[in-house]
Amino acid sequence: MPSHTSKRPVMLITGGSRGIGAAIARGAATDYDLVLNYHTSGDAAERIAVELRTDTCRVEPMPADVADEAQVLEMFAAAEETFGRLDVLVNNAGIAGGYGPLDVVTGPMLNRLWAVNVTGAFLCAREAAARMRTDRSGHGGSIVNVSSRAATLGSPGEWVHYAASKGALDTMTIGLAKELAPVGVRVNGVRPGLIESDFHLHAPPGRVERLRPTVPMQRAGTVGDVAAAVLWLVSSAAGYVTGTFIDVAGGR
Ligand code: NAP
Repeated sequence: MPSHTSKRPVMLITGGSRGIGAAIARGAATDYDLVLNYHTSGDAAERIAVELRTDTCRVEPMPADVADEAQVLEMFAAAEETFGRLDVLVNNAGIAGGYGPLDVVTGPMLNRLWAVNVTGAFLCAREAAARMRTDRSGHGGSIVNVSSRAATLGSPGEWVHYAASKGALDTMTIGLAKELAPVGVRVNGVRPGLIESDFHLHAPPGRVERLRPTVPMQRAGTVGDVAAAVLWLVSSAAGYVTGTFIDVAGGR
């Protein structure tokens, strides 16, 4: 039995410790109780939790490597035990998986990339949907997958492998949206373009400055720009929206 079932809807954000995930948490705290998943950045997740917790907003950091099925099961069980309900999953956790052209790609690099960006999102979607679907014990819900414009641009010379993993995530979004619509679960995607975050530390220095002129709006996006799209997709204003994508990429 849950220790105390939340009165407010509950959102679980994977990779909620930093960057885009932390921005989504900041934007969601007015309306949701939050599960902030983290992998390596426990201190950062705890700082966000302390910042956002109020008398009405419950926030709990929860560790799990989303690529590890046992850890994912443990996290969802702990979230259920703590909050008693789940309304929104944001599959935000992601890695670049190495930088460079095809020659640099290795088997272990690819396996880890798929494991985090694709397997992790599948496992979390499965656990979330099992709790949300109206033909079981749930009352419906919403899943947003944080993909990338790379899925359609391809990222030649830099991150084709990463782009391909996000292409898989987009296909998952399309399929699960159709599979889960009859049981009250909406599934959508957000495709960020060039966004200022630590993600670019995985590339040679100056990547954001180098690519800025290729963005029609001539600027990199902010983590808040991405969070705003995610928050709209999970809101009741998007109640008839499923299986679609919002590109947050300044026209890129
Ligand atoms: P970031 O600053 O590098 O943050 C990555 C987040 O993912 C961290 O919270 C990290 O958690 C988490 N994470 C990584 N591996 C994990 C794992 N195995 N299990 C659980 N969590 C894991 O990057 P970001 O820019 O915020 O990226 C967030 C998402 O947006 C990613 O899916 C990324 O592909 C996508 N995206 C980013 C951009 C961009 O330009 N920034 C563009 C397109 C798409 P810990 O720190 O706790 O390990």
